[in-house]
Amino acid sequence: MERNRIIAVAGAGIGGLTAALALARAGFGVRLLERSETLSEAGAGIQISPNAGRVLALLGLDDAVARLSAEPAALEVRSGRSGRRIATLPFGPAFARRYGVPYRTIHRADLLDVLAGAAMAEADVDLKAGHAVSEFAIHARGLTIACETRAGMREVTAAALVAADGAGSLVRRMMPDGAARHPMGRTAWRAVISAEAAPPAMAHDRVGLWLGSGGHVVHYPVRGGREFNLVAVTPDPPAAAAQPAGFGDLMKRFRRWNRDVLAILAAPIDWRRWPITMVDPAAPWARGPVVLLGDAAHAMAPFLAQGGAMAMEDAYVLAQKLALQPDAPAAAFAAFERDRRPRVTRVWNAAHGTADLYHMGGPPAALRNAGMRLAGGGLLLRRYRWIFGWTPPAPVMQRAPTGSGTGIARTKRV
Ligand SMILES: Cc1cc2nc3c(=O)[nH]c(=O)nc-3n(C[C@H](O)[C@H](O)[C@H](O)COP(=O)(O)OP(=O)(O)OC[C@H]3O[C@@H](n4cnc5c(N)ncnc54)[C@H](O)[C@@H]3O)c2cc1C
Repeated sequence: MERNRIIAVAGAGIGGLTAALALARAGFGVRLLERSETLSEAGAGIQISPNAGRVLALLGLDDAVARLSAEPAALEVRSGRSGRRIATLPFGPAFARRYGVPYRTIHRADLLDVLAGAAMAEADVDLKAGHAVSEFAIHARGLTIACETRAGMREVTAAALVAADGAGSLVRRMMPDGAARHPMGRTAWRAVISAEAAPPAMAHDRVGLWLGSGGHVVHYPVRGGREFNLVAVTPDPPAAAAQPAGFGDLMKRFRRWNRDVLAILAAPIDWRRWPITMVDPAAPWARGPVVLLGDAAHAMAPFLAQGGAMAMEDAYVLAQKLALQPDAPAAAFAAFERDRRPRVTRVWNAAHGTADLYHMGGPPAALRNAGMRLAGGGLLLRRYRWIFGWTPPAPVMQRAPTGSGTGIARTKRV
């Protein structure tokens, strides 16, 4: 492969793996640099809305993802205090017909396995696990990237660097005008339980969303319904989130909630907590032959379940922009930034605003609930058409997989 066709990708999370795969299919060689020794995602689920589902389908992964996902029939919104149903947003066959792919929920480890299996089946993707990008230098022919490895520093050369190294992105921090990551002042508690351990209030065929003052609870099936993912969001400041905390801490925050919610929260043995952090999408993403994508560029509040979806959209669009100008990565990355910023910013703002809507208490919550009941699930769902209806650009160039195909391949442990 010619040197000017080699692209380094920092980070093998959802964004980095999708980028590696899309770039390889667009005819580039990829050096995929991941700081961890193994590719893994902390145990939790992820919702794949149709806008992301279409990216996966374009990359030939629809069947593999479908085999490992659940396809909830609806999103059911309830009051956390009274337990009363507020609205049901239908994800049934009409929804799948409209968007071309269904709404899916999947365990992150399964999604990562599908992406990694397909990326590593590509002859032109070279995964370098245990490579933490620590510095880079731009020169006339591209970049030299310094990585810390267990065996000491290693250098990787490439024509361009795509930084998909997450919300704490080192590459972003090395860009002179890179945005800072800032805490949202909320904590996400996450757990996965088996279907047998799930209390009756966790319907097996839907996403459950319980709204209450200062927090909310979400659960949905993963692994074809054999397991459930649970997320509880509380208004904890980031310092508290760094402390170890157990079930007692969680229950204190929900003690006034409905007993169905309490039964759901009591089901997991282990809860893990994440401070929710955000990265302002207004700061620059591209600088010469270096570009940020996914959480590195614009980590967002998770309340519309769109952070991973935006990373997948970004990855696909980026590969197409580079395919249009393979010899001019700086121009391609600038075009990527121009193309993506308006959409990502709109989603980012909508996700942020959703926190206020979800976490109302007292009379405003009663008004919200009445409004949602009046509108009904169908109308509420229509408000998200602009998110779910996004269509990936037609591939400039997309070749067939070079390796063993796009089936499920277990993540290569290196
Ligand atoms: C509670 C919660 C629920 C969510 N639910 C959803 C959902 O349902 N749907 C959805 O679409 N999104 C959801 N999200 C958002 C989603 O998880 C993220 O947006 C997504 O994981 C971002 O992917 P990424 O690849 O950009 O970053 P990451 O997943 O953070 O991956 C970054 C990778 O880079 C590696 N790395 C870091 N630094 C370096 C370095 N210096 N060198 C090399 N490698 C490095 C890391 O090890 C990691 O593998 C949720 C988020 C939270 C917190």
